[in-house]
Amino acid sequence: MVWLDFQTRALVAEPQLDITIQIDSDDEALKAAATKATQSGGIIGIPFEKYKDGRGFTLARILREEFGFQGEIIAFGHVVPDQAQFLLRTGFTKAEIGDEARFEAWLVALSRFQLHYQPTALHQGLGRKAYIDQRVENLNTQLSGAQNLQERLAIIKDYAKATYGHIAFSTSLQKEDQAITHALFSGLFGKDDAGDIKIFTLDTLRLFDDVIATIEATEKQYGITIKRITPDQAELAELVAQNGENGFYESVENRKACCFTRKVRPLSKALEPATLWITGLRRGQSDNRKDIALAKWDHDHGVMKINPVIDWSDEFLEAYLADNAIPVNPMHERGFPSIGCEPCTRAIKPGEDIRAGRWWWEQKDDSQKECGLHVATDQPSHSDQPLKGATA
Ligand code: SF4
Repeated sequence: MVWLDFQTRALVAEPQLDITIQIDSDDEALKAAATKATQSGGIIGIPFEKYKDGRGFTLARILREEFGFQGEIIAFGHVVPDQAQFLLRTGFTKAEIGDEARFEAWLVALSRFQLHYQPTALHQGLGRKAYIDQRVENLNTQLSGAQNLQERLAIIKDYAKATYGHIAFSTSLQKEDQAITHALFSGLFGKDDAGDIKIFTLDTLRLFDDVIATIEATEKQYGITIKRITPDQAELAELVAQNGENGFYESVENRKACCFTRKVRPLSKALEPATLWITGLRRGQSDNRKDIALAKWDHDHGVMKINPVIDWSDEFLEAYLADNAIPVNPMHERGFPSIGCEPCTRAIKPGEDIRAGRWWWEQKDDSQKECGLHVATDQPSHSDQPLKGATA
């Protein structure tokens, strides 16, 4: 038998069930079980004889909401990933998941539904939208009050734990990303905590050699592996067949199609198991980013998006990098403040906007200078905004 802990998202040894309740237990029996388990610190097990039998959810909900049971409730028997939403919502802490091959499916299911189980919110009569708005507001208050990047990352970590979250950090090896990488993996953050963070980069297969070298230098310096997320081969072949290898020069539409295939789609896949997404966005990077918040609910990916260096100045960033001997891409010294794919990025002249070298052949409207990874989800909005598709 294989057991999954919903909070740590790890496989665990078979738990010692202290109290197993019958599926047809009445209120009196449930109350007695809750009292006994509370007094002894014991674990309550609820059987699921058939996966279509939802009585176990009702029993758990009654234990939590009627009798205030705060300890562990475990589901055993026939449970499937599709039931993750109900297991979380009704307060289960672990489940017997059959065999190890189902582990990934369970992780994905738990991530998707992590915001649904919020007993406090439910008790307060809050719906999902109100709950998310409240979370965003609280996070922004907490993060803006933090004294430094480490404190912000600690808040992020606590949030992830409280929401059974999986943290993803997307790096494009820009200076801001390198500062966050250092804060996460230099030992300041704690090796165990950093080990839970999935760091990845979108390898569009059109990157500069210096970007690849910076990835490797960063991995070496911090003893980490930065996962390269590449485009789907079939989708890429279709794009190239349709628009050519460098069709992005011909129209904004073609360029956005290329960014969609090489960046936006792979990002969505990379964020599928995540509940919290850390980025290196900074308001000073462009006018288009000047209103971005520290924390924002990302509708497109169903994650809490956090930008922990959003309010750093150029000077502060440079000092942080220098003081900590953080590796940076040597191209920055050659006039590339913002680095994307090789065919779409060139050096800028003194006085030009720092993103002027991105897709330089297109019109200069700053709103065009995005690839679709951040535009839609970072416009000022609230969680009742309709879901949007990709922006490319
Ligand atoms: S930046 Fe250029 S090469 Fe890279 S994905 Fe976008 S259009 Fe394609």
